[in-house]
Amino acid sequence: MAKFKVLVTDHISQDGIDILRADSDIQVDIMAGIKNAELKKIIGEYDAIITRSGTTVDAELIENPGKLKIIGRAGVGLDNVDIEAASMKGIIVMNAPTGNTLAACELTMGMMLSVVRKIPTANQITKAGEWDRKRFMGIQLYKKTLAVIGLGRIGGNVAKRCRAFEMKVVAFDPYIKKSRAESLGVELCDTLEEAIAQADVITFHTPLTDETKNLITSKEIAKMKDGVVIINCARGGIVNELDLVEACKSGKVAAAGLDVFVTEPPVNHPFFDVDNIYVTPHIGANTHEGQYGVAVIIAEQVKNALHGRSYRNAVNIPFMKSQLPEEMQKYFELMESMGHLAAQVVKGRPESIEFTMVGPKFEEDFGERTFDTPFNFQPFSIAGLKGFMEVAVKENVSFINAPYVAKERSIDVLETKTHSYGKFNDLVVIKVKTDKEEKTLGGTVFNDGIGRILTYDNYYLDLIGEGTFLYFKNMDRPGMIGKLGTILGNNSINIADFELSRVDDGTAVGFVRVDNKIPADVVKEILALDGMIEAKTVTL
Ligand code: NAD
Repeated sequence: MAKFKVLVTDHISQDGIDILRADSDIQVDIMAGIKNAELKKIIGEYDAIITRSGTTVDAELIENPGKLKIIGRAGVGLDNVDIEAASMKGIIVMNAPTGNTLAACELTMGMMLSVVRKIPTANQITKAGEWDRKRFMGIQLYKKTLAVIGLGRIGGNVAKRCRAFEMKVVAFDPYIKKSRAESLGVELCDTLEEAIAQADVITFHTPLTDETKNLITSKEIAKMKDGVVIINCARGGIVNELDLVEACKSGKVAAAGLDVFVTEPPVNHPFFDVDNIYVTPHIGANTHEGQYGVAVIIAEQVKNALHGRSYRNAVNIPFMKSQLPEEMQKYFELMESMGHLAAQVVKGRPESIEFTMVGPKFEEDFGERTFDTPFNFQPFSIAGLKGFMEVAVKENVSFINAPYVAKERSIDVLETKTHSYGKFNDLVVIKVKTDKEEKTLGGTVFNDGIGRILTYDNYYLDLIGEGTFLYFKNMDRPGMIGKLGTILGNNSINIADFELSRVDDGTAVGFVRVDNKIPADVVKEILALDGMIEAKTVTL
């Protein structure tokens, strides 16, 4: 029997399906067009689903996700997938952002030329038997200014092509580096207004987000040049539809070309009655090459992710451990293990967890975020949080959902960076506050590449966090360790390692690494020793 089941819920190119079917570990079922009510009943039987824009993957659909681990979108836009809901359930969401870039770019070019030369109307009229050349006086693109809003993959390619038309290209994109614009020969504007005010043609290539919804309304249109041309082949609603209709009717906007609508398919839409608005039915990605591209890419990615080989284009993994430098991967593992330990030794209900990264190694930002997330943590904090929540919550906690799991439980998560911490220059620290106490653990990675826990509250240690330990805290009196060792020996528990530390208040803590599990009654016996304050088994 196949190890993994994949459900394809939309029409995707056969080439992608063939890739999945060629893997004997994968069973592929195809139910293109399946309704959500039906899909909800069976979704939990699948390890992955692959969709295009036809399936709305919302919180309700994945309420009981069962085995579902991956949602693959054969395309770039993810507005039909509730990424936050998927993240909360620990489901990886991945898309195929590059497969149809050129298809969408070329439609934009086609749209721009069609609109400025009124090609669709000319075609219609000529075929209807009219020969009216005067009516088709167009606008030339040469030497005109194009504003590209969103200079990402598609926007960048449109910019390149328009430069070949010898247009001046300006752009507004607050999230890209100046050097990217420079390399494309594009002038980057500091504000949206600056870009749109000078443009003869404006084209939109941003995702649809809270920020870009209604990015252009009557207010912005008023700041544009009279007779401007507007193209939107990105997402419906970036340009307010009714405001655009008004502007096209008044002539403020000479013409508009739109491949996308707020509601698709549009029914009796006000665009339909306006001659200088040209529309297409969301066909940006519809080229043979584009469809082949997204299907093959998503199939390969889902296949690799199912086998745990790679998670390319996963949009809700805020980092890839494998992409961290080797030394930083050790810190990542150390943090996870410290989170584990903190959760096992702290008493009470957690109220807050603070992660501190100490030293120059942590100055760099290691968390590359490719999607809107309410969390902005470094991978090390997420590793620590996962380690902690896994023990504290005992449910399906992953690097994806750990911050959500903490949030759901009203645990405040804080992250700080600092130059030094006590006598340490390189350290990662976890401080947990509960309704009963506060516990702080610190650790580092030495040159031997091994992560060690060095501080436990005020105690100094040298603990390599791997294995099963007897953790204890006792009054620092002669004979305590002997008694403890005798109990372990009497119960045939072999001691592999011993780490002891004491402080001025007359207490000591110890971590005894043992070769075999310590039965609960043995721990009880140790705890009953006179002068013993705490004793329990911890696993790291
Ligand atoms: P991308 O992620 O490469 O680029 C998007 C760019 O928008 C990024 O550079 C980002 O920094 C920028 N951006 C985000 N918010 C912004 C804001 N508030 N103001 C200005 N810029 C902002 O994406 P892409 O692959 O180029 O796709 C762009 C859009 O095209 C997406 O909305 C996608 O869904 C759409 N698309 C449509 C079709 C179609 O069939 N019509 C096909 C493919 C893609």
